[in-house]
Amino acid sequence: MLAWCYERDVPLTPRGGGTGFAGGAVPLGGVVLSLERLTRVRSFDPLLWRIEVEAGVRTSEVRRLARESGLFFPPDPGGAEQSQIGGNIATNAGGAHAFKYGVTGRWVTGLEAAIPPGELVRTGGPLRKDVAGYDLKALLVGSEGTLGVITAAWLRLLPAPEAVHPVVAFYPDVRAGCDAVLRVVGSGLEASALEYFDAGTLALAGPSYPGTIPPGAGFMVAAEADGSRDEAARLRDELLSVLGEGALAAETPSPGELWRWRDGIAFAVMAKRGGKLGEDIAVPLDRLAEAIEESVALGGRYGLEAVSWGHAGDGNLHTNFLVDPGDPDELARAGRAGEGLFELALRLDGTVSGEHGLGLLKRGYAGWTPRVARLQQAIKDAFDPKGLLNPGKKL
Ligand SMILES: Cc1cc2nc3c(=O)[nH]c(=O)nc-3n(C[C@H](O)[C@H](O)[C@H](O)COP(=O)(O)OP(=O)(O)OC[C@H]3O[C@@H](n4cnc5c(N)ncnc54)[C@H](O)[C@@H]3O)c2cc1C
Repeated sequence: MLAWCYERDVPLTPRGGGTGFAGGAVPLGGVVLSLERLTRVRSFDPLLWRIEVEAGVRTSEVRRLARESGLFFPPDPGGAEQSQIGGNIATNAGGAHAFKYGVTGRWVTGLEAAIPPGELVRTGGPLRKDVAGYDLKALLVGSEGTLGVITAAWLRLLPAPEAVHPVVAFYPDVRAGCDAVLRVVGSGLEASALEYFDAGTLALAGPSYPGTIPPGAGFMVAAEADGSRDEAARLRDELLSVLGEGALAAETPSPGELWRWRDGIAFAVMAKRGGKLGEDIAVPLDRLAEAIEESVALGGRYGLEAVSWGHAGDGNLHTNFLVDPGDPDELARAGRAGEGLFELALRLDGTVSGEHGLGLLKRGYAGWTPRVARLQQAIKDAFDPKGLLNPGKKL
């Protein structure tokens, strides 16, 4: 298909599960190439902690296969039931447990990809180390379908943790909650996840929270301890002690209930007005509190209700502006507020995208210097000299 398109100057947009939040799989003309039928598990070696899958295998399927053999594929982006491993790699997706385990790219040891003008290439493989040459695998990871079509991947797995214990604490405000996050990190406690939820999020999603939210709570932090039975219990107790300092309350909900609730937050928030526009900016950890406060204030400036939650430990905010999707004026104001978020991220020494990529929505906002922009373009030109792969995205 790629060779056919390249010969005839037809643009081609790869599409995985279609769950991306940056409009990357939305074509601007040409052909859409769906990877949904590439669903073969080519090899699985549980004793070597590795699996080779085709790009269309769903993220949840990779996680399930690993779990059934006592292993663990750490990346856990929220749309895992629908997203494909190729899409996760193409966006270098994160998730709640990226705080300890990193984003998808960290678990990819090799890729097979179709690159212009229509050749199948392989970079890396079932290897744990490979430092020969420039890292082409790393260039394809996060390339959002603009450099090649990923057809298969070799993934690294880990033995599954024996025990998992979430710890949740509530604070009166953003500052007290973010201080607690900094205390966890400063104490050297390696939580597997470290999430935050602001007052607006608690107001909308709080009614379905599986524990007890104390009166006066304006901020919630959820951490998780994992490891062997003993390690996880010790870390849980230490997290309870560090997060409990200055908290209104702290508790240990069941992991299943907590993460199910976490997965539903976006929908609970969206239900308020029927729509939302959210971004995924990331800032240095010590700027998290001001980023949350300023991003929510931005909504007010444009007459929009704003709520914020996200991956606290990674300084990765999901601030969302609530909108009526049928109101063009509100949508326009949300767009301007979104631009304000990008400016805020760059001003705080952060990035406009911590995990969703630039796609269609954020291209042009990355804040690169001219030299860096030229290097980015040179990489694109080296892979795709005719500019036919997912044109109009990322750059
Ligand atoms: C409910 C929900 C929760 C989410 N939670 C998270 C989260 O916690 N963390 C996070 O990082 N993201 C999250 N996301 C967004 C996330 O980026 C996607 O879920 C996922 O990584 C995209 O995979 P996909 O298969 O759906 O790709 P698509 O949306 O189909 O495509 C995304 C981009 O990748 C390209 N692409 C897709 N497949 C290939 C391929 N085989 N080769 C080359 N390019 C390809 C497309 O061209 C496009 O540019 C969430 C989305 C939803 C809907």
